[in-house]
Amino acid sequence: MFLKRPNGLSLVVLTVTFIGCPQQAMTERQITDVANVIHEKALTIDTHVDIPDTNYATKVFDPGIDNPKLKCDLVKMDKGGVDGVFLAAYVKQKERNEQGYKYAYESAITQLAVIRRLPEKMYPDRCELAKSPTDVERIAKSGKKVIMIAIENGFAIGKDVSKIEEFYNLGVRYITLSHNGHNDICDSCKPSVKLGDRESEHDGLSEFGREVVTEMNRLGVITDVSHISEKSLYDVVKVSRAPVIASHSGCRALLDHPRNLNDKQLKALAKNGGVIQIVALSGFLKPDSPQRDKSISDVEDQLDNGKIGISQFLAKMREIDAKYPPSADVGVFVDQIEHAVKVAGIDHVGIGSDFDGGGGIPGFNDHSEALNVTIELVRRGYSEDDIIKIWGGNFLRVWTEVEKVAQELQRGSENG
Ligand SMILES: [Zn+2]
Repeated sequence: MFLKRPNGLSLVVLTVTFIGCPQQAMTERQITDVANVIHEKALTIDTHVDIPDTNYATKVFDPGIDNPKLKCDLVKMDKGGVDGVFLAAYVKQKERNEQGYKYAYESAITQLAVIRRLPEKMYPDRCELAKSPTDVERIAKSGKKVIMIAIENGFAIGKDVSKIEEFYNLGVRYITLSHNGHNDICDSCKPSVKLGDRESEHDGLSEFGREVVTEMNRLGVITDVSHISEKSLYDVVKVSRAPVIASHSGCRALLDHPRNLNDKQLKALAKNGGVIQIVALSGFLKPDSPQRDKSISDVEDQLDNGKIGISQFLAKMREIDAKYPPSADVGVFVDQIEHAVKVAGIDHVGIGSDFDGGGGIPGFNDHSEALNVTIELVRRGYSEDDIIKIWGGNFLRVWTEVEKVAQELQRGSENG
């Protein structure tokens, strides 16, 4: 069990009060009280948050204040009882030539330094970098916020498997194999028209991609299957010796979007022992108005074409949110969790908001509102154990298994 702190008195009291008490019989006040206790007890982790740009963790983009430009900052995490976040170094897919590979590697290296600046230089008294599940538990118990690092798009390693170890040594603990557009590792669920992608380039995971997953297994870097094509996912779970994650995806049965996983994919993920972290991005959860869709696709194009950076993208997203509000809300978000639980099982579902990368819906628009998710889960009858699993327990179990596999593989190669 991954708990932040041992059972407190308040929980004992509430358990006694509500044992055998069907949720329907609870008042809103009682639901909130129970949710508060569970939320406090759970080790809450969000597996996907983006950073706006390289000014992040400076006075320009200060994550130490309640920053109106950020959906995830230390103040909002505190307010919403969120213990840990994966901050992603997002690497845009560009042409696969010398220049493109150079850009990808340097972009990742720069952003890793930017992310590390937050726990190591700017607010070492308020947050700390975690490199293992043990670190996560220790840091959360100390009362500091847990910062973890991901790379979004395996393009960052180019064609060089040895780069994975370099990134691992810099603290990276999961890599999303692709983003929008195919790369040398695998096919993306969203081929890039601009880069001249065909529907499929590798028919899933490439030979090089197999080497990449194997090396990630050896090092203990979690493989992230969000953004990759359906066939790529099936290939990955076949090749990977360790469970994998979808760090920020939705369910295709509820909204037919290529970024979402269908039931067959959810079952493959569960069979692999992995976890789907449900994304809080409206466009993946419920059909939005055509005006909203059009406005978002316009600013996404501008971002893709390099006309605007992420921070300008986020500013434009705030304008769009005000003009054409998202149609999904926290209830729709929990519908997605429920569907994933129904298909994959309670041990294979978690939360990955995509805040500061397009995520955010009414009721769960930033980390200060995280308790609303727990309230909705309690209202629908989820038990304390279930909620603790969803809010981070499942993800930490996967990470622990990934570490175990790495140790075994490293021991095996030493002996052999
Ligand atoms: Zn993404």
